[in-house]
Amino acid sequence: MNLCTLSALELATRIQARELSSVEATQYFLSRIAETEQHIHAFTHLAEGALDRAEQIDSRLKSGEQLSPLAGVPIAIKDVLCTIGDRTTCGSRMLSEYRPPYMATAVQKLVDAGLVIVGKTNMDEFAMGGSTESSYLGPTRNPWDVQRTPGGSSGGAAASLAAGMCSLSIGSDTGGSVRQPAAFCGVCGLKPTYGRISRYGLVAFASSLDQVGPLAHHVQDLAACMAIMAGHDNRDSTSLAAEVPDYLAELGRPLKGLKVGIIREQVEHAALEAEVRDAVSHTQRMLEELGASILEIDFPHQEYAVPTYYLVAPCEASSNLSRYDGVHYGYRELGDASAESPLDAMISRSRSRGFGPEVKRRIMLGTFALSAGYYDAYYKKALQVRRLITQDYHRAFQDVDLLLGPVTPTPAYPLGEKLDDPVQMYLGDLFTVGANLAGLPAISVPAGFTSEGLPVAVQLQAPALEESRLLNAAFQLQQAGLFTPQVAEPPAT
Ligand code: GLN
Repeated sequence: MNLCTLSALELATRIQARELSSVEATQYFLSRIAETEQHIHAFTHLAEGALDRAEQIDSRLKSGEQLSPLAGVPIAIKDVLCTIGDRTTCGSRMLSEYRPPYMATAVQKLVDAGLVIVGKTNMDEFAMGGSTESSYLGPTRNPWDVQRTPGGSSGGAAASLAAGMCSLSIGSDTGGSVRQPAAFCGVCGLKPTYGRISRYGLVAFASSLDQVGPLAHHVQDLAACMAIMAGHDNRDSTSLAAEVPDYLAELGRPLKGLKVGIIREQVEHAALEAEVRDAVSHTQRMLEELGASILEIDFPHQEYAVPTYYLVAPCEASSNLSRYDGVHYGYRELGDASAESPLDAMISRSRSRGFGPEVKRRIMLGTFALSAGYYDAYYKKALQVRRLITQDYHRAFQDVDLLLGPVTPTPAYPLGEKLDDPVQMYLGDLFTVGANLAGLPAISVPAGFTSEGLPVAVQLQAPALEESRLLNAAFQLQQAGLFTPQVAEPPAT
């Protein structure tokens, strides 16, 4: 039986019907990992005791216990989410040996729901990047073309699915890190509304933008995962108290009468490659056939999205990452003992050696933009433009229910291509950062392949807390054949 593209819900149903056990399902994916991981490097490390946990789930099911609709399903977790009894590296030397004394709320909820963690996935260092090349543990490769990037920062999460190494995957999205790798690897990825899922135990990059999000081959699996992870958490004061809808039950509503906006500044953008634009037009026609109407929308502040994000995010990062001082957490290297201040020398050396170049660049950018004399010109200005971008969305959502557009300007590019040119790397985020700046939910949906055989995708964005609307539209597109879940086979050795 091929479990790779079976939906996680269907897999759980079979486990619950005792057609196969969670142990068998876990073994299946572990053997896929054993075959494929050497080519892809999707994981920072595998979880200890996955088969034991699967066995526990099997015996709980056997004893008649009612577990969640995803119980027994093998899942991969991005290595930015704290897991107890295991390392959480954030793809950084700084945390390469860090063993958190607590579990992230989102992960705890998945464990409580009976999901089986198979491993922690690779990522750009501290989630800063769009190609998974800044990981201290080395890059992840795109299963559809191992010479290319899987995207990032949740590159391992997306690649692990595309290579058939797990049934579900959890990432995080600060400026596109769930949606962009999902797009590059041909899987679905959802960034929920800011505050919809607790950030407790999600290692902070930019706290006003960070959000946990699921990736899967099937839209209904994202819905099932959201139902488990969403909700208020006393341990995260920014988590929302709003009731959690029954995301699964809300799939299947007809799209007749739905108003979908296309952002003119996005589809006409000079950087947008033709095959990605074609995917958006194709999806637009499908939505029309499903009964939706299309409206053109203006987004006057689109061109400021990337510069605004690349001020706000580094400013917050410079503050968040000040905790890695060689004393409280992580990597420590003693400095020159004869230095005037051996303590300063230790902090300086620990940070110099513990962080990679991209993280240092962000810390320096953020520290500069927050410093006296520059704060008003940079950080404060960025906050003002952030408000204008949010207003563009509010204005759009007075006229339409959803926005349709590209996720990325291009499909996956070759490894190394943008490594020496950070600005080019940053410009790849031009269609994704808006949803984070405005705190809105957005989904990346596969939309076929380019002539070169690389996945392309489209993005849908919705007003705050309207994840159901996004999931439903994506589900209807999936049902109508916009994409078929597929797994890339590893290259022959
Ligand atoms: N690529 C973006 C960045 O480098 C987004 C990263 C993310 O969402 N974590 O900041």
